[in-house]
Amino acid sequence: MNDARASTHVLVIGGGFSGVAAAAALHAGGHDVTLLERHAVLGGRARSDSRSDRAVDTGAQLIASTFTRATRLLARAPLEPTLARDVFVRDGSRLPLQFGSIASMLRFGGLGVTEKLKLGTTLLPLLARHSAKLRVDTADDLEALDRSSARAFVADAVSERAADVLVEPPLNAFYGARGIETSLAFFLTLGRYGSDAELLASRAGWSAALAEAARGVRVECNANADVIEITPAGVVARAGPDREWRADALVIATGASAARALLGGVVGASHPLITWLASVTTRPTWTVMLTLDHATDADTFGVLADPAEAAMVSACALPAGRWREPSELANVVLAWPTPNAVDALGDRSATEIVAAMMPEIERLVPEAQGAVARARVYRFDEGTPVAAPGFIAHRARGLALEETLAVPVALAGDYLTMPLVEGAVASGEEAAARLVRRLRV
Ligand SMILES: Cc1cc2nc3c(=O)[nH]c(=O)nc-3n(C[C@H](O)[C@H](O)[C@H](O)COP(=O)(O)OP(=O)(O)OC[C@H]3O[C@@H](n4cnc5c(N)ncnc54)[C@H](O)[C@@H]3O)c2cc1C
Repeated sequence: MNDARASTHVLVIGGGFSGVAAAAALHAGGHDVTLLERHAVLGGRARSDSRSDRAVDTGAQLIASTFTRATRLLARAPLEPTLARDVFVRDGSRLPLQFGSIASMLRFGGLGVTEKLKLGTTLLPLLARHSAKLRVDTADDLEALDRSSARAFVADAVSERAADVLVEPPLNAFYGARGIETSLAFFLTLGRYGSDAELLASRAGWSAALAEAARGVRVECNANADVIEITPAGVVARAGPDREWRADALVIATGASAARALLGGVVGASHPLITWLASVTTRPTWTVMLTLDHATDADTFGVLADPAEAAMVSACALPAGRWREPSELANVVLAWPTPNAVDALGDRSATEIVAAMMPEIERLVPEAQGAVARARVYRFDEGTPVAAPGFIAHRARGLALEETLAVPVALAGDYLTMPLVEGAVASGEEAAARLVRRLRV
């Protein structure tokens, strides 16, 4: 992205994958970039904490080797293939399954031969036929697939049980969303990226990996921008009464509701883009992290509950199970709520959330029984965008409105693409490109 105005100073608000991708692209294009992040570390919904001096990722866990933009952004942070051994727990039995791998799906003991045959004649051909279009940043018309619900399609084409196994666990655990309220186009895009890809992670954690990706960018953490202004000289961002940053242009890479609050102060609450930002729906999500008083001998990473049996917990993960060799993280267990738990517990205290989820965590990970030394709940401030049926058309309307902005501001965030690390990176890179075009005019 070479630009004649190489001395332009750009502010980026938000240090998740989208903000870092925008900042890195602008820096690579010769711009002087300052990134403001309200938390103490980069990462947003992919931020890391530490246990025993080791990084634990509290939100996003894995990326796929097919995430071309994300792997390029993280080229300086060594990514390693994970073992990707997951189990699906039904009636107390642990059935091996590797999510996203079609070969593993066809070997999976929890589905019958007829169901596998139906999968082979319905879902898989659909995936193959639309593979080229199933991208986080697709501009192609996926309207028909986007109108359908992921669960309704799989339940009709294969069985309700197949929908419980294939559709619900990833959507329930990572998005607090139900398969019935999720677009088939999004579900197939997850499948397309996961299809026989390697699943990668960073041993140093995503926060450290993003700090590497942001090398050359001035990063200010613990900086919660609450107001922006446009002046004849450019843009101003403020955090409280005492801190302010001035620049020529701005990328707002927060979630949609923070973007609405910041941008609304500049373009007015009745601007159609502000109305559109208000229409972006999100679900609250959180991660429970337990530290046990002893190590588990985890050779598994994901422990996914059969949704037909799960009331409060949709999945657990053993971070040590990502790697082949023993790890200091062997006493850490992560757990995610079901959509019903999100509805019932969203406004409860961390103590109440842990108490409500604990019995099912112990059922999925028996080593946790009576062994919890420490429990913590990580909430993701703005929740996660819902890729509901129709979201591709909805997002196209938002992007078209963003293109009409008459101020040197661009928006980034996975709500403008798809709620995946790759979607966040794509939105950041696209926002950087739009901003540079706007500055040239
Ligand atoms: C539990 C969970 C598991 C997931 N697992 C996966 C996975 O395994 N693989 C995958 O690909 N995706 C996964 N995802 C999705 C992925 O995490 C997101 O799509 C991606 O991280 C979103 O990045 P973003 O930059 O768009 O938003 P965010 O990560 O939300 O970043 C926005 C940033 O802006 C900051 N901010 C907001 N307001 C302000 C302000 N006023 N001033 C300064 N800073 C501000 C926030 O603190 C935050 O850091 C998961 C999500 C969740 C919640």
